Amino acid sequence: TQLDLIRNFSIVAHIDHGKSTLADRLIQMTGTVAARDMKAQMLDSMDIERERGITIKANTVRIEYPAKDGKTYILNLIDTPGHVDFAYEVSRSMRAVEGSLLVVDASQGVEAQTLANVYQALDAGHEIVPVLNKIDLPAAEPDRIRQQIEDVIGLDASDAVLISAKSGLGIPEVLEAIVTRLPPPKGDRDAPLKAMLVDSWYDAYLGVVVMVRIMDGVMKKGDRVRMMQTNAVYGIDKLAVLKPEMRDIAELGPGEIGIFTASIKQVRDTRVGDTITHERKGCTEALPGFKPAQPVVFCGLFPVDANEFENLRDAIEKLSLNDASFSTEMETSAALGFGFRCGFLGLLHLEVIRDRLEREYDIDLITTAPSVVFKLHMKDGTVQDLHNPADMPDLTYVDHIEEPRIKATIMVPDDYLGDVLKLCQDRRGIQMDLSYAGSRAMVVYDLPLAEVVFDFYDRLKSVTQGYASFDYTISEYREDFLVKMSILVNEEPVDALSMMVHRDRAEARGRAMVEKLKDLIPRHMFKIPIQAAIGARVIARETLSAMRKDVTAKCYGGDASRKKKLLEKQKAGKKRMRQFGKVEIPQEAFISALKMD
Ligand code: GDP
Ligand code: MG
Repeated sequence: TQLDLIRNFSIVAHIDHGKSTLADRLIQMTGTVAARDMKAQMLDSMDIERERGITIKANTVRIEYPAKDGKTYILNLIDTPGHVDFAYEVSRSMRAVEGSLLVVDASQGVEAQTLANVYQALDAGHEIVPVLNKIDLPAAEPDRIRQQIEDVIGLDASDAVLISAKSGLGIPEVLEAIVTRLPPPKGDRDAPLKAMLVDSWYDAYLGVVVMVRIMDGVMKKGDRVRMMQTNAVYGIDKLAVLKPEMRDIAELGPGEIGIFTASIKQVRDTRVGDTITHERKGCTEALPGFKPAQPVVFCGLFPVDANEFENLRDAIEKLSLNDASFSTEMETSAALGFGFRCGFLGLLHLEVIRDRLEREYDIDLITTAPSVVFKLHMKDGTVQDLHNPADMPDLTYVDHIEEPRIKATIMVPDDYLGDVLKLCQDRRGIQMDLSYAGSRAMVVYDLPLAEVVFDFYDRLKSVTQGYASFDYTISEYREDFLVKMSILVNEEPVDALSMMVHRDRAEARGRAMVEKLKDLIPRHMFKIPIQAAIGARVIARETLSAMRKDVTAKCYGGDASRKKKLLEKQKAGKKRMRQFGKVEIPQEAFISALKMD
């Protein structure tokens, strides 16, 4: 295809502003998918994405569009994930295209992820077409939002396209804007092959599928190609474009986006951002800016029923086939038995994986407290990564500890600003900036990631009644006074509940924890001390008194069916219990105990 007949673009938006709906309309109006095959949110393929209405994996579709100028264009849309955890995927897919549609909900205006995503698009050198969506809503204020885009982002929005992705209004204008306002790709057909690995996934029939954007040269079926990061060489078995189902194609030239398969065993062998070239006469210089995605949040996953360990292992193996950013390692916990220590890109990523394990593989899990990666600077001069508080070495060997900090951007209506500042301050935040766009405040905080991984989103949502939006980037590692806090139940340490905390907050956190556990652990026939400790020093203590009567006693013996029900319920509850020495702790206790208020 001639370069000037190609347009590659992505859609950037804050979550729920209508990105997927717009993608659907573009696909539908160009007849890319026959009407009878159309289902809502074509590009969101995973069930969990549909259910939660979020896009997790970047996806792509090739659209043929006969424009008003009489020529037929090929439009490649790359759909990017909208959530902060997947910022790395967003930034990679941005580099594979030349332009972006910036979708802003005309009744909501600019939000934190609008900003984060649009800055990434600008970083990638994109031409940007602002699109104001949901103008069918009575609350839509296109003029005000246009002004806001100019004020907050500094982008000329005078010729923003006004649309309703829901009704289809304005979609023909979007298609024309893509052709007339976004630039065609550049590239040299005669140069050695240089392709960017944009994405990869595991397909049950085809094995690993690799999505590429050709920068220079031509890729053909049967070619032998080399991945420049791993140096591995593969023969291309299948070459196709996505419409969005696969259509075989003989070759992909400069500016084109497509997929290939090449008997690649696992997704891990394909590094997003890597450069692919021919085995012979390849290019010598890789594309700039490659960096592998790093897991930042770790937690332990253990089966509730120890007999399910093998099933969990299988399920984890299958999931990691498709997700190279999800790292796993076997772990044994004195308290929880055999399980896995897993690394994630962020909390949403963690939740998604845990959900899939429980739902698709039907395994009940105990999830330990999420933890960030701490850097231990040892007295002998070495530096160790600490992924699990349970592995914390004796303090006498540790010189100092560093933790990851983030730069968080929060946008919130003025009325809630006070509560947001208090929340950030409580989480050891340092205010960096505060500015206004109309009645919305934009505040930038430097925060410890460790304080955000617990329930920061939930707290933020509840103190602002859902009106705040949040985005972050990891900024640096910094030293602080961090200590390991252990929890002892009946004098026995429960390793799954140990955590790294700031020295000044240890006592409050320890107190809250033992008080919660006191409510969460059922009474036994004997007294149970519950303690929080730093090393040998106990910083908080509660005592759970012994049980006096049989649980069914309060039914006054009369109602036999009710008595039976209660016993059955108790039995079902047992399945989710874990034995610690002489004490049984229900699974909910772990999850609830690790949340802070
Ligand atoms: P995404 O998170 O950006 O992909 O947003 P979606 O496309 O999933 O849309 C979020 C919600 O907004 C869905 O309930 C859509 O039906 C709704 N929506 C999208 N476009 C419009 C529109 O033009 N008008 C109205 N009223 N609702 C819309
Ligand atoms: Mg979506």
